[in-house]
Amino acid sequence: MPDTHHPTQRLLPTVSIVEETMRQALRAVALALVCTSLLTATLLAERLWSSAQLEHAADRHAQANRLAGEIRLAEQELLQAAQSAALTGEASWIERYDRLTANLTQKIEHASLLVPLTVAQRYRDKTKEASAEIAQMRQSALNALNSGALDSARTLFDGERYTSRTRLIREATEELTAISLAATERQIRELRTRSYIVAGLALAFTVGGGLLLWRRLSSGLNDSRGSLLEAEVRVQRLAASDLLTGLDNRAALHDAMQTRLARAAKHHQELAVLMVDLDRFKPVNDRNGHMVGDLVLKEVAVRLGRCLRQSDLRARYGGDEFVVVIDEADGKRTALAAAERIIETLCEPMYFGDLAVNIGASVGVARYPRDASSDDELIRKADSALYRAKKSGMNGVCVYDPKLDEAMSERAALEQELREGISEGQLIPYYQPIVSLAKRHVMSLELLCRWKHPTRGLLTPDKFISLAEDSGLIGPLTISLLNQACRDMLRFPSHWRLSFNVAPEQIQDESLVPQLLAVLKENQVPPHRLDVELTETALVNDTARARQVILALKAAGMTVTLDDFGTGYSSLSYLAEMTFDKIKIDRSFVRTLRERPESTKIVDAILGLSRSLGVDTVAEGVETEEEAQLLLNLGCKNGQGYLFGRPVRAQELQQRIALVADQVEPLDSQMMVDVPL
Ligand code: C2E
Ligand code: CA
Ligand code: CA
Repeated sequence: MPDTHHPTQRLLPTVSIVEETMRQALRAVALALVCTSLLTATLLAERLWSSAQLEHAADRHAQANRLAGEIRLAEQELLQAAQSAALTGEASWIERYDRLTANLTQKIEHASLLVPLTVAQRYRDKTKEASAEIAQMRQSALNALNSGALDSARTLFDGERYTSRTRLIREATEELTAISLAATERQIRELRTRSYIVAGLALAFTVGGGLLLWRRLSSGLNDSRGSLLEAEVRVQRLAASDLLTGLDNRAALHDAMQTRLARAAKHHQELAVLMVDLDRFKPVNDRNGHMVGDLVLKEVAVRLGRCLRQSDLRARYGGDEFVVVIDEADGKRTALAAAERIIETLCEPMYFGDLAVNIGASVGVARYPRDASSDDELIRKADSALYRAKKSGMNGVCVYDPKLDEAMSERAALEQELREGISEGQLIPYYQPIVSLAKRHVMSLELLCRWKHPTRGLLTPDKFISLAEDSGLIGPLTISLLNQACRDMLRFPSHWRLSFNVAPEQIQDESLVPQLLAVLKENQVPPHRLDVELTETALVNDTARARQVILALKAAGMTVTLDDFGTGYSSLSYLAEMTFDKIKIDRSFVRTLRERPESTKIVDAILGLSRSLGVDTVAEGVETEEEAQLLLNLGCKNGQGYLFGRPVRAQELQQRIALVADQVEPLDSQMMVDVPL
């Protein structure tokens, strides 16, 4: 999995997903608003129109009703007028009859306007003949009346013909008015029905449109939800992976380990946890810059991928620490074989353009279920195995050993105490004089560290210096000591120098020289009062860097001494190359000067060598007068040892100076000269 994560892979823009969703929602709302407005406007217009139509229809209906009544009345009046005219023979009745006839005709005309044209036409067809006959009869009756023949007029009006014709017309007229009424009623009904249909359609449209919108919106929201989920998965994946290498990060590793452990417990499988720490990574990083450092880490991730199975867990645990979890179910895949493969792969040179980089790796192994059953414990135990691997040199593997675990946790506790001790000022300087063997005058004081531990008592450097070196505390410890020593130096004669131990690891620290100078400056101690002691280990690990540091120290005005000479590689080329100011002959030769003739030969050779190189010498561990004499005879100029004084605190040294001050000559103002103790 880790290989597929690319660190530069960018996040899906969650903001844009949300924005798109909002846009969709807004669009839907806007559409809904527009549709609703249109619908409302349509409904309103329809309402207005149909109510106007209804009003009109109701009007016509009322009109038809009224006309029907009026027609009936007019007919009766007409009948009455006809009969009255026939009875009385008065012209006024005739006139009235005529008027009423005109009135009736007008009303019928009016009523026929309220019916469909065909009906009106039918009415006209139906009544045409009868009307004509009536008109003719009326004319005859009128003539009869005018000539005084009332009886014949009456006979006409009472006659069967007149009665049947008027009945025909009346029936047709009734039919007409009935049709007219029915037509207007039908129109009203139709209008109402249409209203219902329109309302129904509007409702259907609203529901349909709403459903459609809802579907669109919810599918849009579903898409957004999908994209957001995808984005979230990617965010989680990125959060779980180390951005530089793309491997799992610490949190993801613990998660994955818990899952694997649960599975392993269920299927009785064995797992191995490999803690991989790069060797020589820090100098590569310091020297070539972080860009190259980053490239190296990426390459490590790629190579881990290459030499492991896809299913193996790979994580970047810290700066240059990686964790690998492998399944040991398959007998051939032992943890040790995997560790060796990893070391081998990482030891192969890496090329970045013209730059070739060589690193290595140390591996600590812990196994499930043998060593521990929880992820934290397994990591802790792999780490403690790694610590041992590192201690025993580069490119090594160590498998967790319970017997050594206790010592390790003790060491871890001590490391924490040391950290606190440094900041609380528990680390204090002791001073041991370096004297001229001939006159026994103090040349310099070697600063030797002591830890005034609150519960463990006064601890010597063998108990904590290597711990300080391994845990990166040596830097702060050195600076704290130098600060205290600078203040003490103000109490000592100004030509006494300070011999100051710098651990091999510190050579790699770019800030070493500037920091030393800053402390000296702050305390107003001139750099030429400082003599820096380096052991051969510092030179062996990184000769080029050691040369740089030595030159820088010397350029700043300090002197540099090669400490413990004869115990390590004792390469003559270092001596020639590095231009030391002084060589310290190791205690082991001094101690055996008397019993072992070889020691004398070696010391003699070292002295001859330093003479020819023009380098000063100091013999360490001088405990007896005899040793001092032998050394002096061999030509050694300076000595350090219990014979001249044990390491003591500044106050004690001051008291001794005060004690002897009365007995000696005034202090020589020259440097490196003689104050006898
Ligand atoms: P070193 O630099 O070789 O210091 C000399 C050691 O020899 C000191 O041990 C000193 O007490 C001891 N010594 C001196 N004269 C005699 C003698 O006549 N007989 C015997 N048997 N021993 C004698 P000490 O103080 O225990 O320091 C041990 C080592 O710890 C030092 O060895 C030095 O490498 C390291 N060390 C001490 N202080 C510091 C420090 O502040 N920084 C660093 N980096 N290393 C320190
Ligand atoms: Ca020393
Ligand atoms: Ca020494």
